[in-house]
Amino acid sequence: MLGAEGYVFELERRGYIKAGPFVPEVVLDFPDAVRGLHREFLRAGADVMVALTYYAHREKLRDVGREGDLEAMNRQAVRIAREVAAEGGALVAGNVCNTWVYDPDNPATKQVVRTMYAEQLGWAAEEGIDFVISETNDYLGEALIALEIIKELGLPAMVTLAPTQPDRTRDGVEYAEACRILAAEGAEIVGLNCDRGPQTMLPLITDIREAVDCAVAMQPVPYRTHASAPTMETLRTAEGDRAFPIALDPHVCTRFEMAAFASQARGLGVDYVGICCGAGPHHVRAMAEALGREVPAGKYSPSMDLHPMFRADISAKDAAFLHSWTA
Ligand SMILES: [Zn+2]
Repeated sequence: MLGAEGYVFELERRGYIKAGPFVPEVVLDFPDAVRGLHREFLRAGADVMVALTYYAHREKLRDVGREGDLEAMNRQAVRIAREVAAEGGALVAGNVCNTWVYDPDNPATKQVVRTMYAEQLGWAAEEGIDFVISETNDYLGEALIALEIIKELGLPAMVTLAPTQPDRTRDGVEYAEACRILAAEGAEIVGLNCDRGPQTMLPLITDIREAVDCAVAMQPVPYRTHASAPTMETLRTAEGDRAFPIALDPHVCTRFEMAAFASQARGLGVDYVGICCGAGPHHVRAMAEALGREVPAGKYSPSMDLHPMFRADISAKDAAFLHSWTA
């Protein structure tokens, strides 16, 4: 499977989501913008349209004064995803994420989280989804609450952890062991998403692949994270400031790097290869083609042999200037 996410970052860049709260108000305010991005990912080869309900939960909507729009926002996000998925035979995923409410030391928060997930996923299930992606989980405990709700709804679950820490969840469980527990509790797909780029996520996924028999998902961010800045949150600007979340541009991976990652992930036995915050449709298309897919947007895949300066039969008039392109 090929996944494509990063809707919040991309729609923020396009001027439809406010950086900071990152609440997907765009779903109600500019539904065509959401529809358009779904379609771009679909044409690029994504197999799943993920309903844009990331951070569309009660706590976040309260922050931006739109708690009254909670149900409408969640239902509309699924409707839009369904509508575009039908254009290309894609699956539709409901989506929940970390709530920022869960506190392992405060048992009362479990019920609050449970209620938030239950209402979001209840609406999604009524609108019609094929499975649920519970993602960017910092705590295994919170992920298990999401999994419980998904199973109660009788839906398949993909549960992925946010690898912001070196080797374990915030509640102290090694990522591979946390995935093993999630699989044992009934998750059909487990793995990692967000925060790390391909280079620093791949080593962690190897352990997870060995720990579970179920399908494994890996959706890194397309940023050049490395040993001394293993996550997008730790990347720095040229001036030494924190680049996350809206000055990450100089660190973006090329489409070629993401294509190489897709092949590598498949080689490691990753079943659900995807991309998270920072993704553009050009990344997704390159990944699809690296996996041997023919996709609608492939009609416009690069043909540099037709570029006037790069073609084999470059004209004498243009060839005279080629030196200035290599200086
Ligand atoms: Zn992300």
